[in-house]
Amino acid sequence: MTPFTYLRAEAEASALQAGCSSGVAFIAGGTGMVDLMRLGVEKPVRLVDINGLPWKTIERTRDGGLFVGALVKNSDLAWHPEVRTRFPVLSEALLAGASPQLRNMATVGGNLLQRTRCAYFRDVGISACNKRTPGSGCAALDGGFVRMHAVLGGSDHCIAAHPSDMCVALVALDAIVHVRGPRGERSVPVGEFHLLPGAHPETETVVAQGELVTGITLPPSAFAARSAYVKARDRASYAFALASAAAAIQLDGNVIRDARVAFGGVATKPWRSREAEQALAGQSVQTAVFERAAAAAMQGASPRPGNEFKVALAQRVLVRALERAGGIA
Ligand SMILES: Cc1cc2nc3c(=O)[nH]c(=O)nc-3n(C[C@H](O)[C@H](O)[C@H](O)COP(=O)(O)OP(=O)(O)OC[C@H]3O[C@@H](n4cnc5c(N)ncnc54)[C@H](O)[C@@H]3O)c2cc1C
Ligand code: SF4
Repeated sequence: MTPFTYLRAEAEASALQAGCSSGVAFIAGGTGMVDLMRLGVEKPVRLVDINGLPWKTIERTRDGGLFVGALVKNSDLAWHPEVRTRFPVLSEALLAGASPQLRNMATVGGNLLQRTRCAYFRDVGISACNKRTPGSGCAALDGGFVRMHAVLGGSDHCIAAHPSDMCVALVALDAIVHVRGPRGERSVPVGEFHLLPGAHPETETVVAQGELVTGITLPPSAFAARSAYVKARDRASYAFALASAAAAIQLDGNVIRDARVAFGGVATKPWRSREAEQALAGQSVQTAVFERAAAAAMQGASPRPGNEFKVALAQRVLVRALERAGGIA
């Protein structure tokens, strides 16, 4: 591990001030950052520990939504009674991630900013990785092992899949991310928070050097209570998604008035599927409708030799998530 200095910030102002210098990185639960420092992928000259900051509460907003502080632990969010009942897709997504021990440490802000699990990105012995070293190439695209990689949202520079489960649920819930920097605060719809790799896979989110995520808002929603998350992976637990789906539907009798669909494990960012949502609107709750929506969602997929199976798998997890949200499974 490269030597670094450590500062525990006890106030937001000191964290923001310290974060402005280049080479400084924030640390919250540490489950991602320490891992990458040990591997030599992250080499901060200074770590600013933000665990002394106050963003640790879950509160009702005036309009009936929920505000969740960036330092709320993944397990506390997953088991919160209002999240369990009003936003079940979020609770299920969080509980499908990592292990109980990791969820007890991992925070909302850290989960939003976690980095890809692409094996070539994590192995500093492999030089070709545009995300780690801009302009160096891409070992995955250059004949690499792509079983875990994305089939949606890739570019000629990077096809790394986004690893988060939580973020997939947040996309289906139209969550808002609050970001604060030296120049003030802004609120970003979670669908715009993560960036496609394009020609610059090293830039993964809209968060700039020195900015902090302070929390997220879950707006009140007519579809969130009828929602589900389904994840397919190599082991029954403690494994990243090969394909996952978050589905939320608002019903008028047996007719779907509105729907939200998002995928994980198959795309370079948490992936909202408006194609699937359009195919669901106005239709009745039945498996044949869900299968058509799932097929529409994957029409733009670009699999490579080694990950073609993800196209069918993603459709199956979405059908199952919709069946669960619709109460027919
Ligand atoms: C073995 C293992 C298995 C895992 N399995 C899964 C899984 O199945 N599904 C899944 O979704 N995740 C999984 N994870 C990832 C895990 O969820 C993340 O590591 C965790 O959510 C990161 O949160 P943290 O608080 O520990 O972040 P940290 O490690 O502290 O930080 C992560 C990044 O976020 C930045 N950061 C943290 N908080 C803030 C903030 N408030 N503002 C600005 N920047 C911030 C840090 O600078 C760093 O870049 C797994 C991790 C491990 C180690
Ligand atoms: S897919 Fe992206 S993260 Fe993986 S090696 Fe290629 S550039 Fe690096």
